[in-house]
Formats: sequence, structure tokens, C-alpha cells
Amino acid sequence: MSRGLLLVISGPSGAGKGTVCEAYKKHCQNHVWNSVSMTTREPRAGEVHGESYFFVSKEEFLKRIEEDAFLEYAEVYGNYYGTPRREVEEKLAEGFDVILEIDIQGALNVQDNTSEGIFIFILPPSMNELKKRIIGRGSETPESLLTRFKSAYNEINYVSKYNYAITNHTVEQAYSDLMCIVRAERCRVTRV
Ligand code: 5GP
Repeated sequence: MSRGLLLVISGPSGAGKGTVCEAYKKHCQNHVWNSVSMTTREPRAGEVHGESYFFVSKEEFLKRIEEDAFLEYAEVYGNYYGTPRREVEEKLAEGFDVILEIDIQGALNVQDNTSEGIFIFILPPSMNELKKRIIGRGSETPESLLTRFKSAYNEINYVSKYNYAITNHTVEQAYSDLMCIVRAERCRVTRV
């Protein structure tokens, strides 16, 4: 079996990357593996340890950094987030496509640390729509809402560092764009 694809997916909070990735995983569950990140942030209602994230203390996270256990890690909105290195390596070698749903700093770290990766940026249809989606989640305080919204403006400038951009008008269309990118990448002969 050939090595899987490393799909690195970023986008501002509220652009809908989680929903697009969920739809993709559901459809392709036999050959896609979703990397579960480790974080020091508090779980939100409904989040399950080991599924949404591995929720750990800051001490535990710092220990893993010392052990070089992360493919990448970043501090986002005051909390640490990191991708466990070993599992990603193993799954790619087994032929699974691996999805990393990570922030921009993390994606840039992956670009520095590995020679592989297909970098995909999920854009909201508009900033107004983004605002509506973040508010609609109901999980943010007014302060964190403002932080996430300001960051979104900043983050959108990084789209040129990615190989592909998908505008998430609807989940169906965005997910279908993602499928097309993966198909094209499977047919790729050269990497320039
Ligand atoms: P949230 O707190 O909303 O779950 O995630 C906040 C941000 O952290 C999102 O942009 C999410 O993609 C990013 N994130 C989640 N896991 C990781 C990770 O392992 N590494 C990095 N660099 N960012 C992550």
C-alpha cells in the first residue's frame, strides 16, 4: 500500500473547517485517520477526552514538548495545542490519509519540519457570515469572541502560504472541493 496523504487544514475559527473535515471523514472513513490533538484548554460541553482532544495540564504538555513528542505545537488563544508525532507517522506509513486540523502557526511549523503535506485553507463566505457562525456556536464569552474575530482578520492574510483555498459556502460544496483536491493529489506525478 502506498503512503497516505498528509492533509493540513486551517482556517479562521468559525470558517467551518471542523464541519467540512467531519463530512469528509464520514465519507472516507476506511482510508482517513483524524489526528487527535493534545490541548491544555478546558473541554467544552459535549467534548470527549480522546475524541475531540486529549485534554491535559500545562505541566503534562510541557513535558511532551521536552520529549519531542509533537510534530508541531502552538499556543493559540492562551492555550497550547499539539499534534502527536508518532501516531501521524504510523498512520501515513500504513497508507491512511491523515487530517491535521490545526492553526496557521502549526501549519507553518509542519511546512518547516516535514517535506510532505497538502496545505488547505478554509475560508468563510464573508466576514459577516463568520461573525454569525461564531456567535451561533454560543460557546464564547464576549472577550473570546472579540479575540477570535480579530484573529480571523489576521489569519486570512496567510492564505497564500497554502496550496489550496476552499470557500465554505455550504458544507456539501466545500466537502466536494476537498474530495476533488485529494483526487487530484492522488494523480499527481511531480511535486514542484
Ligand atoms: P478550538 O479551541 O476552537 O478547538 O481550537 C482553536 C484553534 O486551535 C483552531 O484553529 C484549531 O484548528 C487549532 N488547533 C487544534 N488542534 C491543534 C494542534 O494540534 N496544533 C495546532 N497548531 N493548532 C491546533
